[in-house]
Amino acid sequence: MTAHPLASPAGVAQDGTGVVFNIQRFSLHDGPGIRTVVFLKGCPLACPWCANPESINPGVEQFLDPATGEATPAGRRHTLAEVLKECEADRPFFEESGGGVTLSGGEPMLQHAFATALLQELQRRGMHTAMESTGHVAPPVFDRALDHLDYLLIDVKHHDRDAHKRWTGGYNDLPLRNLSRALERGIETRVRIPVIPAVNDTPTDAAAFAEQLHSLGVGRVQLLPFHQFGERKYLLLGRPYRMAGVTALHPEDLTEYRDTMIRAGIDAFF
Ligand code: SF4
Repeated sequence: MTAHPLASPAGVAQDGTGVVFNIQRFSLHDGPGIRTVVFLKGCPLACPWCANPESINPGVEQFLDPATGEATPAGRRHTLAEVLKECEADRPFFEESGGGVTLSGGEPMLQHAFATALLQELQRRGMHTAMESTGHVAPPVFDRALDHLDYLLIDVKHHDRDAHKRWTGGYNDLPLRNLSRALERGIETRVRIPVIPAVNDTPTDAAAFAEQLHSLGVGRVQLLPFHQFGERKYLLLGRPYRMAGVTALHPEDLTEYRDTMIRAGIDAFF
């Protein structure tokens, strides 16, 4: 039987291609300036609130509409040259706005050979590079990506080690270690907390996050209130949506949360 190209322990395709589920142009929220965001499939975690459930499985999948029977692909194999061509098309916008290319996912480092080669080549061509990472990545792999990274966006999903494992499937050791490493290396970093009802949304959680981030030398954090934007995609993938019926949060619901962090010395913002 032929092994799936992403079935190797390192999660690396042998043919030099990567599985990409979206290339989003003109993004303004994934790093400085106008950005092209390359979404790579595959994530080592499985958060119930994930807004991109098609990002979790590393292989090509299909969205299937149960009402119409219409199928659309979720993910496609791309060569490095194909992705670079898309990025090059947006270079004038990057130059005008101080933007560049952001790798996102899933966890881009689940396809680390492809993702790191892409970062390296973008940087060689003079394009600003950013990565949106879970931080749940083996340290040597993460360190190699940092060699070619100008900007890091990283989520800290729970301050408590066991709760992080319970909710996401992985402990918070690697995200905290890799965040700390990026700061040590002077990589410009934006830390974010997805604030999720009944998971990490109390002022006590805010105080614990603040203490943890303080100890790592983080002074600023973006709060991402829970929303249900991804719900329909679960239906199309035939998977249960575990956040059904959970009310979305808005910045005004989290004033006390934000203020608790600010009082503890962390500049929290939305
Ligand atoms: S880490 Fe991000 S991409 Fe992975 S399952 Fe959680 S929310 Fe989804």
